[in-house]
Amino acid sequence: MVEPARAASAARPPHPQHCPSWCIDCRHDDADPFSPRALLHRGAADIVHAYDDACLLVETQVRVAYWDKAPDWIGTDPTDLEHPYVEISGPTEDDLHLSLTPEHARALAAALLRAADTADTAV
Ligand SMILES: [Zn+2]
Repeated sequence: MVEPARAASAARPPHPQHCPSWCIDCRHDDADPFSPRALLHRGAADIVHAYDDACLLVETQVRVAYWDKAPDWIGTDPTDLEHPYVEISGPTEDDLHLSLTPEHARALAAALLRAADTADTAV
């Protein structure tokens, strides 16, 4: 009998040695003409539930991510996003997708806490 963890690792390609320590999900887009030789490193996702505009409860994912680009592609995104950043995404590729610097993420977290505290005290 194969243990579940071993089965999962056997199905995945070998994890590159140059990945950041937090990376658990790499996308190698060598064949993508818009991102030649770029690797998207993504960390484990925290799931945050929220209601969408149809009042359906959906899972929003929050994780660290980083585009490791070929030198000639660096500078094609804002400088802030040329480093590891925080990614917020909806349940599908077509849903919400935000990229935040660590500073933006901390400001959003603080704003969420203030709004949650206000909501808790509102009558
Ligand atoms: Zn990686």
